[in-house]
Amino acid sequence: MKFHVTGHENLKATHKSTLEFTKEDFLTKRGDCILGINANVDFETDLPKLKKALDLRVRKLRKIEIKLKHGSHKDSVFAYYHSGFKHKEAMVIRKSDFLDSRTFAYKANKSAKELKRELFEDLQKKGEKGKLHVDVSPVKIKNIIFDFDDTIEEWTESQKHMEDDLAEAVHKRYKIPKTKFFKKFKEIMHHYILHTRNPKKYGRGLWIRESLRDFDIEPTRKEVNELVEIYWKKCNYFIRLEKHVIPTLKKLKEKYNLFILSDSDGGKQYKTMRVHKLGLEPYFKDILTSDDTKANKPSPDGFNFLLKKHKLKAQECIAVGDHAQTDLYTPKKLGMSTVWIKQGHWGQDKSVDYNYIDFEINDIKSVLTIVKKFE
Ligand SMILES: [Mg+2]
Repeated sequence: MKFHVTGHENLKATHKSTLEFTKEDFLTKRGDCILGINANVDFETDLPKLKKALDLRVRKLRKIEIKLKHGSHKDSVFAYYHSGFKHKEAMVIRKSDFLDSRTFAYKANKSAKELKRELFEDLQKKGEKGKLHVDVSPVKIKNIIFDFDDTIEEWTESQKHMEDDLAEAVHKRYKIPKTKFFKKFKEIMHHYILHTRNPKKYGRGLWIRESLRDFDIEPTRKEVNELVEIYWKKCNYFIRLEKHVIPTLKKLKEKYNLFILSDSDGGKQYKTMRVHKLGLEPYFKDILTSDDTKANKPSPDGFNFLLKKHKLKAQECIAVGDHAQTDLYTPKKLGMSTVWIKQGHWGQDKSVDYNYIDFEINDIKSVLTIVKKFE
């Protein structure tokens, strides 16, 4: 479905949650979601054609790309087509999932404000002489990118055992009460998880050293290494898969390319050891950690590394993860579809902004239901 809209002197395109094309021939200063007026779209003939191209059947989900082009400037928005759209004048694309007759698409990855500014600066100057070309086309899902800890591998429970052994060893050696050390270690760990994108800062060695320093202890390198070994030793013993992982991966692998993108554990070997022990290698086309990509989530660098390495288009990927803020926020921005699997510690996160989450599930096998909707 192709059409164009024209510019206007009041064109701002600064709305934070929506964007809109309109057939109307005027624009007031309040219309900050409008990307252009005078849309030369004929809904009577163009919509049925689009629906055919989307192969739309009842209760099926269709992802679309809305390509924008003005001169040499281009941008794209990815969203889900709303089959209940039937307005005669306006096409609204929203980041939320609010649906009314004006909603052409929902759960978009961008609002008017997040589009390239170059597109609109010139359109505002040129007014009705400037044209913004719009091309709406279907997107096919081909790849699924999984997080590892608490998505594929059960982590929260094992981690408790590991941290308990670590705190026990620290207590024996330095006489620091277990609960006090444990509290400090958690605090430091969460600080690094949320505030750094440098994989080297994800090392248990660093977290242990910093925790001990808080109790005025300066451990030697050998002492730190021994504590790191105690921590990981328990992991090897306790580690197990989340429920329904293997049958789900087996099924998904028949139609999709599967990947793991996980953050560092302070060295790739700690993750490789677990992946191998759980027998996961045969199901994945590639297993990358931030030791390979050189950037922790939610940095776009790690995701872009994977996309580039395997020549994938972001919009053709689904990202699945338990920690919405790190696993899903950036993928959504890049144009991927997102699935929040509510497992482990981060699965209980109450501060999540639902605009960047397309689907919520409690069990990995629900990914099969989701991909079916796209098929
Ligand atoms: Mg995780």
